[in-house]
Amino acid sequence: IKNIQTYYRCDDFVVNDTKLGLVQKVREHLQNLENSAFTSDRHRKRKLLENSSLNSKLLKVNGSTTALCATGLRNLGNTCFMNAILQSLSNIQQFCCYFKELPAVELRNGKTAGRRTYHTRSQGDNNVSLVEEFRKTLCALWQGSQTAFSPESLFYVVWKIMPNFRGYQQQDAHEFMRYLLDHLHLELQGGFNGVSRSVILQESSNLSASNKCCINGASTVVTAIFGGILQNEVNCLICGTESRKFDPFLDLSLDIPSQFRNKRTKNQESGPMCTLRDCLRSFTDLEELDETELYMCHKCKKKQKSTKKFWIQKLPKVLCLHLKRFHWTAYLRNKVDTYVEFPLRGLDMKCYLLEPENSGPESCLYDLVAVVVHHGSGVGSGHYTAYAAHEGRWFHFNDSTVTLTDEETVGKAKAYILFYVERQAKPGAEKL
Ligand SMILES: [Zn+2]
Repeated sequence: IKNIQTYYRCDDFVVNDTKLGLVQKVREHLQNLENSAFTSDRHRKRKLLENSSLNSKLLKVNGSTTALCATGLRNLGNTCFMNAILQSLSNIQQFCCYFKELPAVELRNGKTAGRRTYHTRSQGDNNVSLVEEFRKTLCALWQGSQTAFSPESLFYVVWKIMPNFRGYQQQDAHEFMRYLLDHLHLELQGGFNGVSRSVILQESSNLSASNKCCINGASTVVTAIFGGILQNEVNCLICGTESRKFDPFLDLSLDIPSQFRNKRTKNQESGPMCTLRDCLRSFTDLEELDETELYMCHKCKKKQKSTKKFWIQKLPKVLCLHLKRFHWTAYLRNKVDTYVEFPLRGLDMKCYLLEPENSGPESCLYDLVAVVVHHGSGVGSGHYTAYAAHEGRWFHFNDSTVTLTDEETVGKAKAYILFYVERQAKPGAEKL
C-alpha cells in the first residue's frame, strides 16, 4: 500500500500536461499493477517452491529450448522501445557491471538514515533515482529466478524525469536511449553520499584522454564507455579558411545513403546491397553544405558556402551506431526499410580515424554485442525487439519472451541501433 501512495503522487504531473482521459487510464493501469504485483508475488512464491527441487536451467518456449537464466521484460503498454534498449545495455558487460556493483540505496544510506543522501542533481527530487531503478532492473536480468521482470518502477521514474516519454504511445527507442544515457550521466555526476563517483572513476582508471569527451562536465561511466570525439572540419569555399571543432558524441547517427533508400528486400539481383560501411562512409565523406546552411566565415566576415567533413578523433569503448530509418517528408514521418548489411565481428573503424597511426593494430576493431530492431512501418506504431550476445550465445529479446537464436538470424535483421564493443588486445600481446 505504501508503494501505491507514492505512485499516486504521479497524478500531479499527469494532470498538468497530458490529456485528462489519460489520468483514468493511468489510474486503471496502476490498479492493475497493484493487483498483478500481489498475485504475481504469490504466484512467484508458489512457482519457486515448485521449481526449487528441479533446479533445471532449461525451459521450453515456443517449441524451442531457451535458457531459463535469460529474463524478459514485461510490456507495460507500448514499452517495447524501453525493453529493447534495456536488454541491449544489459549485455554490454563493462557498463552493466558498473551499475550492478553499486550498493543499493538502503545500504548507501544506512537503515536509520532519515532521508536519502543519494542526490539526483538533474531532477532536483530526492525521492526518485534513475540510477537506482536502472541498477535494480539490471540486477533482475540474468538472475535465472524468473522468466520475466516487470520494470514498472523504472518506467515511473522515466515518466517523472523525462516528460517526452509520458503516456502509452509508441516511442522512438533511439531517442529514449539518448535521454536515458544523458540522465544517468547527470545523476552520476551528482555523486553518492557526498563522494563523487566520477572522481572515483577517474582515479581508478586511466581516463585522462576521455576528459575531453564529457558531454557535460566530469566523466562518468556513461562517457567513459560510450564517449568518443568527432573532429568537425569546415572549409570556406570562397577563401579556403579551415575551421576545426571537437564534438563529443555518445553515438553516431548515420544516414542510409539515398541510392539505397527505396530498396525494400534483400535482393542481390537489383544492384549492390547497402552495407554499414556505405553508411559510415557517407557520414564521414566531404560534404558540400546547402545554400540553406551557409557558414559564418571569420576571414570573409560573412556567411559563405562551405564544405564539411567529420573525422573520428577518439573512438569509444562501445560504439553505438544509429541508422536513421525515420525521415520527415512534409507532415509524415516515413520509415526507410532498407536492409543494411553489418558485420558481426571485426568492424574496422581505422579508416575513419583522424590519426590512425596513433592507434594500435587491434584497437580499431569492433565486435557486435547487441542490435535493436524496429518492426512495422511507422515510428508511432510497430514493435521493437533486440538481439544480444551473452556468454557467446545470441538471444532474441521480445518483451517478456526470450529465445535462443543464431548468428545467421541476427545478421539478417534490419538493424535500427547497433552496439559494437572494442576488441581487447590479446593477453600477452603487450609483452612482445
Ligand atoms: Zn571565407
